[in-house]
Amino acid sequence: MSAPEDIVVIEGMTKNFGSGDATQKVLKGIDLSLAKGSLAALQGRSGSGKSTLLSILGTLMKPTAGQHEMLGQDLGRISERDLTEFRNRHIGFVFQFHHLFPDLTALENVMFPSAMHMGRETRAARRRAADLLVRVGLEDRIGFRATALSGGQKQRVAIARALMNTPELVLADEPTGNLDRESADQVMDLVREINAEDHTTFLISTHDEKIADGCRRQIHLDDGQIVASAPPAK
Ligand code: ADP
Ligand code: MG
Repeated sequence: MSAPEDIVVIEGMTKNFGSGDATQKVLKGIDLSLAKGSLAALQGRSGSGKSTLLSILGTLMKPTAGQHEMLGQDLGRISERDLTEFRNRHIGFVFQFHHLFPDLTALENVMFPSAMHMGRETRAARRRAADLLVRVGLEDRIGFRATALSGGQKQRVAIARALMNTPELVLADEPTGNLDRESADQVMDLVREINAEDHTTFLISTHDEKIADGCRRQIHLDDGQIVASAPPAK
C-alpha cells in the first residue's frame, strides 16, 4: 500500500464513538499519507476529530475501520504487545499540557519514561537526556524541578522527552495551545530545526494559523473528513 518514501499511510479510516442510536461518527473515511521527514500541520475546528486522528496514528486508539501502515508494517495486524513495542520505539508524543512530573527535574522527566519502557541502562539514558536538554536550549535548567520552569520551557522538556527514543514520527496535539505568542514561536522554531536536522517526521495539530504556516504542509480536517491537504510549498 505505501510508497517507500511514506512513513505513514492510512486509508478509509473511520472512528465511531458509542453505539446504536448514540453512535457518533467522528472520522468518516480518512485517506492520508505522510512523507518521511515531513512537517505537517493538522488544522480544523474544535471537535473536528484532530485529537482522535492523532491518537489513532499514535496507536493509542483503535480505528473502527480502515488500514493503518507505518514503516511498512500493517498495524492492524500485529499483536497488542508488538504494538506497544512499536509505539515506544518509533513514535513520540507531545501534548498541549506538558504532563511533566512536577517534583522531578527536567533531566528525570526526560529520562524516566524511556528508561521504564525500554529498560535502558541508566547512565546512557542520563547522558542522552542531558544531550537532548542541551539541544532544546535548556542546558542551564537540567537540574531544575519541573515546577520551576516556565510554560515554554516545560514544553521544550516535553519535546526532549518525546525525542528520547529517536522516534521516526512525532505527533504533537496542540503543543503551543497553552503558550504565549513568543514561547509558541520558540517551540515551533525548535520543531523546525529538529525536523530539518534529523528528518524526524512531525504532525502537529493546531488552531494557530501562524504555527500552521510554519509547517511545510497543511492538512485541514472538517467534520471528520480531510477537506484540503496543501502540498508542501516549493
Ligand atoms: P478535536 O481534537 O479536533 O477538537 P476530537 O478528536 O477531540 O476533536 O473530538 C472529536 C469528536 O469526538 C468530539 O465530538 C468529541 O466529543 C468526540 N470524542 C473524542 N474522544 C471521545 C471519546 N473517547 N469518547 C466519546 N467521544 C469522543
Ligand atoms: Mg483536540
